[in-house]
Amino acid sequence: MADARNPAIVLVDDEPDVLRAIARDVRRRYGDEYRVIRTGSGEEAVDTVRQLAERGDAVALVLSDQRMPGIGGVETLKRVQEHAPRAKRAMLTAYADTDAAIGAINDGRADYYLLKPWDPPEDALYPVLDDLLADWRAGYRPGYGGLRLVGDRWSAAGHRLRDFLSRNQIPYTFLDVERDESARQLAEGAELPLVITPEGERLEAPANADLASIVGLRQQPEREFYDLAIVGGGPAGLASAVYGASEGLKTVLVEREAPGGQAGTSSRIENYLGFPSGLSGADLARRGVSQARRFGVEILAPVEVEGVRVDGPYKILQTTNGEIACHALMLSTGVDWRKLPAEGAEALEGRGVYYGAAMTEAMGCTDEHVFVVGAGNSAGQAALHFADYAASVTMLVRGGSLAASMSQYLVDRIEAHERIEVCLRHEVTGCGGAEHLETITVQDRDSGASREIETHYLFVFIGARPQTDWLGGVVARDERGFVRTGPDLRPEDLDGWPLERDPFLLETSAPGVFVAGDVRHESVKRVASAVGEGSVAVAFVHQHLASL
Ligand SMILES: Cc1cc2nc3c(=O)[nH]c(=O)nc-3n(C[C@H](O)[C@H](O)[C@H](O)COP(=O)(O)OP(=O)(O)OC[C@H]3O[C@@H](n4cnc5c(N)ncnc54)[C@H](O)[C@@H]3O)c2cc1C
Repeated sequence: MADARNPAIVLVDDEPDVLRAIARDVRRRYGDEYRVIRTGSGEEAVDTVRQLAERGDAVALVLSDQRMPGIGGVETLKRVQEHAPRAKRAMLTAYADTDAAIGAINDGRADYYLLKPWDPPEDALYPVLDDLLADWRAGYRPGYGGLRLVGDRWSAAGHRLRDFLSRNQIPYTFLDVERDESARQLAEGAELPLVITPEGERLEAPANADLASIVGLRQQPEREFYDLAIVGGGPAGLASAVYGASEGLKTVLVEREAPGGQAGTSSRIENYLGFPSGLSGADLARRGVSQARRFGVEILAPVEVEGVRVDGPYKILQTTNGEIACHALMLSTGVDWRKLPAEGAEALEGRGVYYGAAMTEAMGCTDEHVFVVGAGNSAGQAALHFADYAASVTMLVRGGSLAASMSQYLVDRIEAHERIEVCLRHEVTGCGGAEHLETITVQDRDSGASREIETHYLFVFIGARPQTDWLGGVVARDERGFVRTGPDLRPEDLDGWPLERDPFLLETSAPGVFVAGDVRHESVKRVASAVGEGSVAVAFVHQHLASL
């Protein structure tokens, strides 16, 4: 039922008939879960969103016409973003205004544009709004009911749980004992962080796995044996899972943290085919997981694979939850961030020093001076993302230019952004703080001069390495731990190769063990290539299974 506290959808159009018609169609589909608010001008829309935000009411979507007296649609969406940064923003325009709409998408001010007329709404309106609202909901933290996480925002264990819940797309409310008296009362006498379920059950400082079973994530396999077992649920693993299961293979995917992998931590992936306005990593993960589940893939998480052995045609995985046997094994374990080699950084990890985008921390960055270390696309995306929340963002780059390692569209946006500063040839050599990060020491690599700067947030993106030691000698790896496949296998890697045929393109030195994505030797390190390899590898899985 419609409820005054339901999240809002704000519609903007200066033509009363159009406004009435779009409100009717939007209300028909979404009226039970959202409040639909009509506004007749950009100014009125901005004012409405400001008032909603000040009252703490959630704004899910703003859908605006472009050509209006007063401020136009693009400017309206820009101003709305200042009050409700998480709200989805879309334009509903006449054909003549599509250039403005595309420009708004390119500048990151709009998520999508739709054309008038939107008939029939089932084809021309609802699919897009369904997607935008599902994406918004995935990050929505209702202020009441639901799962509550009580803790201190600087605790590393609290960060771990927030990250785990967000990346597994489980809505929760975070109650900060530093700022909230009711949180302190709830936490009295308990070991923090404390999780309180909707039924009132209290879990003190739980491990991710304990929390997983409470929130209904599956950790035990249903079967003893699978045609295809996949280790790692990033884009490569999810693609293998979708292709494998859709082609009839009994498929299990084992993920140690949350499906989505590195891509799941990205604020916006802009170069993935079919999503002209980009999509967030969380959205990609959510779509991949629901597609895989629809085809019957068993997803086990959080479950880590710790070892593997080959026994004739069988591959047996040793996991933190027992053994899983299969005929074909897909390794899609990606890469992990390299740690910052700065004094004091390790002790402050999760308490101000974060690896990767740590999207859950974005809200905490409001009014803070944030530092981002690194010069790759992921660092660039993160700087732009945090600049939506923080007072200012400084990028610390070891090299002499951003362009050497970052896509030009990101370089252009960073250079044009008034709240982002880039310090080339600078590096972090130390991190200080008792309970949480308070200072960083930054060294100028040319002069050698160091200075200490106050900050609470340091996000590190300094390259990545695979974690494949658990594979032991089962498959051939290169000196950095990436797994060799097909033509990249050297003669000495194939000493024990038992078959007449050569290894397939994405097959390792062990028959029936395949690799896809970033963990492969000489891989491209892109979402699309990981998805492509994950899909292609399944064709070789079929050939392997047919030969057994
Ligand atoms: C912040 C950020 C932004 C990015 N932006 C873009 C972009 O805009 N465009 C683009 O094309 N690429 C982008 N990338 C790169 C892209 O995300 C990666 O190339 C892609 O995710 C690789 O996919 P993958 O499946 O091979 O590995 P990953 O995404 O790394 O996934 C591997 C998964 O395996 C799991 N795993 C590892 N070991 C085990 C184990 N032993 N047991 C169980 N599970 C295990 C991990 O937890 C992880 O979930 C970005 C990366 C980052 C970090």
